[in-house]
Amino acid sequence: MAIGQLTISNLHKHYNTFRAVEDVNLSVPPGSFLSLLGPSGCGKTTTLRMIAGFIHPTIGEIEVDGEVVSSADFVLPAEKRQMGMVFQSYAVWPHMSVFENVAYGLRTRRTADAELKRRVNEAIEIVGLKGQEQKFSSQLSGGQQQRVALARAVVTEPRILLLDEPLSNLDAKLRESMRIELKRLQRKLGITAIFVTHNQEEALLLSDQIAVMSQGRVIELCGPHDLYEKPRTRMVAEFVGLSNIIPGSVTAIRGNFATLETPIGKIESLAPHLASDEKPDGRFALLVRPESIELWQDPGEGRHRGRIVEALYNGNIIDYLVKLEAGDLSLRIQQFAPQRHADGDTIFVGIPKNGITVVEDYATKI
Ligand code: ATP
Repeated sequence: MAIGQLTISNLHKHYNTFRAVEDVNLSVPPGSFLSLLGPSGCGKTTTLRMIAGFIHPTIGEIEVDGEVVSSADFVLPAEKRQMGMVFQSYAVWPHMSVFENVAYGLRTRRTADAELKRRVNEAIEIVGLKGQEQKFSSQLSGGQQQRVALARAVVTEPRILLLDEPLSNLDAKLRESMRIELKRLQRKLGITAIFVTHNQEEALLLSDQIAVMSQGRVIELCGPHDLYEKPRTRMVAEFVGLSNIIPGSVTAIRGNFATLETPIGKIESLAPHLASDEKPDGRFALLVRPESIELWQDPGEGRHRGRIVEALYNGNIIDYLVKLEAGDLSLRIQQFAPQRHADGDTIFVGIPKNGITVVEDYATKI
């Protein structure tokens, strides 16, 4: 049986009357990568620390491979959970060599010498630090120190790897390459990973599932593709990626599609979250991502006349702000360079049907 199944049921953490985590339910299959994504204070670290065994839940249960490790009246100590943890601050010991840092967990478990050497060398090789074994951690760069922390977390062959913003102390370039390495390492080891981040790009890139949290709750849980293409709510649409929101009210629903009356006329859109029997009541809007919109020189069926207010050159793409004539609506549109339109140009905007989705439109912000 594959190991590393994590199941979280009805998990709450209350501090007096403050609800830091509220009714979180998650099922993470063995070997998969789940991100807890959300702004500062939404409860992601508290959830991770409950999984690690550092914080006791107020209500609810955490199970690993069918065994309850946390509940309101029982908490298995962190060191008995077979979980590895990597922190934002690396937390490697500066006075110890790379080898000794990585070996620490195995020494405390009294692993035999030959076995210890084999496993430490293997972990050091996996994270790309072969040849650096005898260096002190203080002689390493930030990226290398984070690799030591990763090797130290995986050398004990944990059932679950917990990652608390492990890349956020690295500079932008290094961060980008470490993301890819982290994903490769997780896949290679086939280890279940729980990753805390407020960086939506990182969550999209790394995850099999993303749990978006707001005010202690998971407000959306799905794969990266669905989260970006078909978010359920306006809040999530605006938090993950760039978005245009077109206000509207639903006038008809047919199967997976809905028709909305909008300031630029009737628009038919994919509406996967609208049950066909639900009464349309105006709590919805349309999401159109900037790269889904087409810009044309000429008028045509379904095209909206507008004017380029601003064209920003961004290397591989041009970022346009377009004001439509109808409906007092401005849209952000991204197209691949080379630039074809300049400030003040009249253009025609096409919104392809498969580039629009209906989202629930609540006032609350993440
Ligand atoms: P960040 O990205 O800033 O770390 P987060 O999403 O990880 O944020 P948490 O650290 O989980 O957020 O905190 C969630 C909420 O619970 C915050 O409002 C925080 O102030 C509160 N909180 C955390 N620990 C305690 C505590 N010991 N007592 C009271 N409130 C707490």
